[in-house]
Amino acid sequence: MYGSSESGVRKNLTTVTWMPGISGTPLMVNTVNEVDIQLRAVCDDLAKLDNEFMKYVKRTAGTFNYRVIAGTQRLSAHSYGIAIDINTEYSDYWQWDKSMKYKNKIPMEVVEVFENRGFIWGGKWYHYDTMHFEYRPELLVK
Ligand SMILES: [Zn+2]
Repeated sequence: MYGSSESGVRKNLTTVTWMPGISGTPLMVNTVNEVDIQLRAVCDDLAKLDNEFMKYVKRTAGTFNYRVIAGTQRLSAHSYGIAIDINTEYSDYWQWDKSMKYKNKIPMEVVEVFENRGFIWGGKWYHYDTMHFEYRPELLVK
């Protein structure tokens, strides 16, 4: 639905400016299902949080990147331009720590902003990835 090949996905992408006035990084995001509109709304909502939260979202490790999930044949949500990674400095990823012991530094206030706009959080997965959010409104129970 977001595009069946890399060029197909690219046709559906637009630029979203991440956290205007705080970051300003241009991100390529899918327009299908209004993912771009929801991500802009996430920026507006995050900007309303207290200053102490800004360090988690000031930087982003990016959105669109046509690639398979490491060790699999499956395309990552980043391949469709429907996922974003926030500041890697405060992130934990299961593959970085072979002990598989769950760790997280991302505050729930930040997670809730994304969830309210239809993005699921990689910090809730067994193979945790706390910097990762992807647009999957069908998986969120309201
Ligand atoms: Zn990611």
